[in-house]
Amino acid sequence: MPTPPEPHTGAITLADGDVPAIQFDNVEKRFGDHVVLQGLNITVRRGDRVTLIGPSGSGKTTILRLIMTLEEANGGFILIDGRPLTHELRDGKRVALKEKHRNEMRKRIGMVFQQFNLFPNMTVMENIIEAPVHVLGMRKDDAIARGRELLEKVGLPEKANEHPASLSGGQQQRVAIARALAMEPEILLLDEVTSALDPEVVGEVLNILRNVAETTNVTMLIVTHEMQFARDVSNRVLMFDGGRIVEEGPPDEIFSHPKEQRTKDFLSAVL
Ligand code: ADP
Repeated sequence: MPTPPEPHTGAITLADGDVPAIQFDNVEKRFGDHVVLQGLNITVRRGDRVTLIGPSGSGKTTILRLIMTLEEANGGFILIDGRPLTHELRDGKRVALKEKHRNEMRKRIGMVFQQFNLFPNMTVMENIIEAPVHVLGMRKDDAIARGRELLEKVGLPEKANEHPASLSGGQQQRVAIARALAMEPEILLLDEVTSALDPEVVGEVLNILRNVAETTNVTMLIVTHEMQFARDVSNRVLMFDGGRIVEEGPPDEIFSHPKEQRTKDFLSAVL
């Protein structure tokens, strides 16, 4: 049995002296007795676009939810820009960090969900400015001005005063993207953002995300079944199975020349 790696506590420096945007250090996640992630190590550089692929239930969404602090790891450490997200090692013990610290860290991270998760009782603009005003303390006028720019960017400038229920699924998802970008996150998490959409609007949502990828430096972690999108946007692909990375590499390598049988089987089932 190999001994598990010693947990780290601080920033891990990459060869080029850069601190990674996201570092998973020996992370474990269980739901009851069900171990979903075990001894997981991931390093994501600033500006990386990483797609997580793999069969359903392999732990991909759990990874995004851990980063968003919607779930809490049972072991190990997650570092964002070299700073611990929810736990740190103190006197040899794994210690939970305070809610205030977690809130500070969470501000750097945006997430777009499969089911949009817009606030139904608020207008589109209210959805977009809610967090900038209440979490970042931005002036309402400034937040609205920025909100207008973002609605322009996602192609919905005329929808500011509508409520989500009056929009199509594709439009709601575009608002959700604008809402995530309104916080100017360093990290953007995309969790199967096209899975709940009608096929004819998938393309428009993916095009907006391609544009975001081309026009910003935001670090992206993407869970998607859209392999062409993954190929276009990401510079790294991680193939998961049973909560472990079984293969990783640039998209051309993984999609065109997968080495592992599990990757080959998965790709032949989805492509
Ligand atoms: P993927 O995104 O690769 O489909 P998930 O991260 O959603 O995988 O799920 C990994 C495993 O964790 C699955 O077996 C799933 O049933 C389980 N799981 C996820 N969330 C919960 C939860 N809140 N409670 C219990 N089990 C969960």
